[in-house]
Amino acid sequence: MAQNKDNSRREFIKSASIAIAGLTLLGGGVSYYNKVAGPQFTRQPRFLRPPGAIDEETFVYACIKCGLCVQICPVEAIKLADLDEGLDYGTPYIDVREQACDFSCDSLQCVETCPTAVLDFNPFELAGGEALKEYSKTHDATKPGFNPFSVQIVAMKSIVKMGIAKVNEESCLAHQGKGFKGNPRAANFEGIYRSPDSNSGKPSPLSDKTFDREICDLCVTECPIGETAIIMANDNKTGMIIPQVLDGCTGCGVCVMVCPTKKESIIIEPIKEESHV
Ligand code: SF4
Ligand code: SF4
Ligand code: SF4
Repeated sequence: MAQNKDNSRREFIKSASIAIAGLTLLGGGVSYYNKVAGPQFTRQPRFLRPPGAIDEETFVYACIKCGLCVQICPVEAIKLADLDEGLDYGTPYIDVREQACDFSCDSLQCVETCPTAVLDFNPFELAGGEALKEYSKTHDATKPGFNPFSVQIVAMKSIVKMGIAKVNEESCLAHQGKGFKGNPRAANFEGIYRSPDSNSGKPSPLSDKTFDREICDLCVTECPIGETAIIMANDNKTGMIIPQVLDGCTGCGVCVMVCPTKKESIIIEPIKEESHV
């Protein structure tokens, strides 16, 4: 993670420079330049806004590019856009193939910390409150040792919608009836995540993990949301056991990061018009 730490410092320096230069104005200017006169860079589909992002148009004008969401994320998933990334300069994004949001902050810290609410915490707070109310109907929520947040965070994560995963049938190993053995990415891959089978509960490097699967199902077993988001299911047409994405997918991108095919066989389709709650 040494290079990731350097990246983090670079992101911080970038956000500080942006702030010092009065960047709300400059950001607006750059947006205008990109839209009207400058080079048109294409946004990579795998670049997503962080959880809780409001609609894109308001987001790019109201985000003050302070970089606080970048600083708080424990897996350093969030970066600030450079000029050539097809996003408005200095705005935060997640490149899920390189480093997905694995929810290991356990409290949507990037959303909570956003000072302008372009990452909007309100819907999460409401969902968490409702979940606790429901829980209290059948459990004693005042019992010593009970942590209300353990109930709230499940509900909060479940309404994140950064996008929705989509499997490429042409290249997905499971769709060809193939398994996978080994480490899914290059030996020097720096991405980290909290695997669902981790004993420590902490994120660790994907490069430290090896898998041995008769039929590839890494996108399913490593998903931090679980069976409401993605399952292995029988394909009625071919009889193959294949990954099937369900409505509970949050678009976090862990499946994209762990997919072992050279070019990822699962992508996240961003949510375009609505907020990314
Ligand atoms: S919700 Fe995801 S992107 Fe945001 S701080 Fe937590 S791990 Fe990072
Ligand atoms: S990890 Fe990739 S190759 Fe494996 S089943 Fe999922 S999409 Fe297919
Ligand atoms: S399928 Fe799971 S890992 Fe993939 S984006 Fe959806 S919630 Fe995240």
